[in-house]
Amino acid sequence: MKVSSYTAASTIPAKLFCDKSLIDDILENKYIRPTHIQINPTNKCPLNCSFCSCKNRDRSLELSLVDILDMTNKFRQLGTKAVTITGGGDPLAYPHLKAYVNCLYDNNIKVGLVTNGILFDRLKDLSFIEKFTWCRISLSGEYDFSDIKFEDVIKKYKTDWSFSFVVNKNFSLCKLIRAIQIANENNFTHVRLVEDIIGENNNTMESIKDELRYAHIDDSKVIYQGRKQYTKKGHKRCLISLLKPNIGPDGNIYACCGVQFSKDPPALDLDANDSMGSNIEDVWKSQKYYDGSKCKKCYYSDYNNLLNIMLDANKLNHKEFI
Ligand code: SF4
Ligand code: SF4
Repeated sequence: MKVSSYTAASTIPAKLFCDKSLIDDILENKYIRPTHIQINPTNKCPLNCSFCSCKNRDRSLELSLVDILDMTNKFRQLGTKAVTITGGGDPLAYPHLKAYVNCLYDNNIKVGLVTNGILFDRLKDLSFIEKFTWCRISLSGEYDFSDIKFEDVIKKYKTDWSFSFVVNKNFSLCKLIRAIQIANENNFTHVRLVEDIIGENNNTMESIKDELRYAHIDDSKVIYQGRKQYTKKGHKRCLISLLKPNIGPDGNIYACCGVQFSKDPPALDLDANDSMGSNIEDVWKSQKYYDGSKCKKCYYSDYNNLLNIMLDANKLNHKEFI
């Protein structure tokens, strides 16, 4: 399993090397296109997790269907190839989810979904799941998912399924083992263990790994992602803001999906004052990247370092002497 297939934060962005036209655009035209959009269509969510990265959000905020389609059309014209529908809240609570997924699919835009899966039970038609490239269900020890029928959904609809499992003060080994068993039985791509970024937690990845092995659990699909590494200052030229922006339910463009942690103390919300505004054409036409020098915590320095090197590569002398 190639871990960098499934996670972006605190990793060298290997996928940047997979798109030759993107590289050419950056090196030769000094242009970074919004290749991958992360969109938070609604702030509604049936849960209230203690570790929620958007705890302080206005739960009533939601994009209208007209706005989300209009924005996506603009991004498509700028070269967007993939959209991750995420939160904020839970995308399954978004009333226009099916129409939106169909629109992305019909326009040859790859689509992924992050959800807690609670509302699978309540939606009548879930056939749109087959249009996802992947679907990741977020679990934790904080709620009992044994009653949720998502196993029926997983078995019925084909996509690249995965779990993420937050390790926090309410960690439950039994629940994690059940999640790994479901993943192993249903050919999941991976189970990503993530440490709670904001709260206390006494469980280390090493101790969990030991316990799983002691219990003879096949953990070959598990990605042990300890507390993510971050830098204590963001990049002034935050170029990831042009490559994979994060769209809030207020219609504003945010520089990254970790911007709610970037202040001290963290805002735990997408604050419009820290957005890049909502004028999509203007941001990309003028390449108005976000000034990340005000960020106190950044999980995407590897992306920004590499993008900055690429953008300035033609200024180097003696290029042949590699
Ligand atoms: S499921 Fe996600 S969006 Fe909902 S409260 Fe939990 S962490 Fe927040
Ligand atoms: S500099 Fe700030 S906005 Fe840019 S990636 Fe880092 S945390 Fe996000």
